[in-house]
Amino acid sequence: MTSLLRDRERQFDAPPVNASPVDAGCSKPPRTEIRERGQHEVFCGLTSIIWMHRKMQDAFFLIVGSRTCAHLMQSAAGVMIFSEPRFATAIIDERDLAGMADMYEELDGVVERLLSRRPDIKMLVLVGSCPSEVIKLDLPRAAGRLNHMLEETRVVAYSGSGIETTFTQGEDNFLTALLEEQRGQTIETATPRLVIAGCMADIVEDQFTRIFKALGLSDVAFLPSRSSDTIPRIGPNTAFLLAQPYLTETAKMLEKLGATRIAAPFPLGEQGTTDWLRAAVRHFGIDEDKFEAVVQPGRERAQRALDLYRPQLAGKRLFFFPDSQMEPSLARFMANEMGCDVVEVGTPYLNRHFSGPELDQLPVHTHVAEGQDVEKQLDRCRDAQPDLTICGLGLANPLEAEGLMTKWSIEFAFTPIHGYEQAGDLAELFARPVNRRDRLKVEVA
Ligand code: SF4
Repeated sequence: MTSLLRDRERQFDAPPVNASPVDAGCSKPPRTEIRERGQHEVFCGLTSIIWMHRKMQDAFFLIVGSRTCAHLMQSAAGVMIFSEPRFATAIIDERDLAGMADMYEELDGVVERLLSRRPDIKMLVLVGSCPSEVIKLDLPRAAGRLNHMLEETRVVAYSGSGIETTFTQGEDNFLTALLEEQRGQTIETATPRLVIAGCMADIVEDQFTRIFKALGLSDVAFLPSRSSDTIPRIGPNTAFLLAQPYLTETAKMLEKLGATRIAAPFPLGEQGTTDWLRAAVRHFGIDEDKFEAVVQPGRERAQRALDLYRPQLAGKRLFFFPDSQMEPSLARFMANEMGCDVVEVGTPYLNRHFSGPELDQLPVHTHVAEGQDVEKQLDRCRDAQPDLTICGLGLANPLEAEGLMTKWSIEFAFTPIHGYEQAGDLAELFARPVNRRDRLKVEVA
């Protein structure tokens, strides 16, 4: 423990890895940023299938993996096994692992059986995983070969392996794979098009579509689309807004295809949503007065919803463990809109272009930690004794046993939290454990 404490002191004393642009050159002291590359406790990229398979309704995700992968998916998505699922695991068994079978032939056989039973599948997504034999498989090549063989079904491939990805990076890889076939094509659209990149619930997309329409933007498309034949075509006339902060590779691909990124914070909470929409409005030269008139009712509804939870949350000290890369945006929301004090915000990877504007809005005493060395981070958390710790499932129970109140970070990926109408639900996710603990308080007579 002594050496861990010394390490920790050294880290906090060390000069910051990065001083944010807001801090640079002004009298404010620079923020302490920590970069750690130790043991980390984060789900692998397969987990994102749990929300993506509901999004694109004619797609099927076929994980090429082990029994561990199948167990993870079954327990993480337990409720969905009662319906006809749109994902499955092709288990690579010991015979395959010993190299006794031709893996490509095995895969062809699985695909053939699947498609004969499920002719509704229009897009088959092969998802790579960790086992060494799967890593040796060239899944993009397998997808290319299957595309030649199958007339009715398009096949794409990406990696969700825990060695390469944390759970939201699975979505990043999937969206990149969806755009891959547009490489080398020049796609001109008559009118400028806005593409919103990042999975959001259908109801949230509908709400944003109505707002964009009221603003005069009618050519708005979402990536991923709801079906495989409406994937937006990208070209020099495309501008894109990210709805999720973890889409580094998707953004690179969109830019390679000629699209322009509209820099914006993320649409969480009333302020985040307003700033996100305003960025689009400015890009397309829409009148600010019109913008204010269109968004005012939504802003007021969101404010009223947040007012309900502010008394429970204001002043609470929060500690975010790294999980989804949404942590800087969530921390900004909780600090600026709910009056919380964020002690530390951890994130598996920090894309400063995307999340820098969110971090700039946090007070300088908030530590930013990129990556993870879980034992050291646990020590920092125990020392800080936050009121609420936002962490993965694996850390939540032990921390609860130590008396710390926790919130499962994975819920922020599964729950519709974007936009004005969901601002209250987002605050409620944080307020739920606080309420629960208040109700469970035992009065000693
Ligand atoms: Fe585990 Fe790797 Fe399979 Fe994820 S992809 S469940 S980390 S074996």
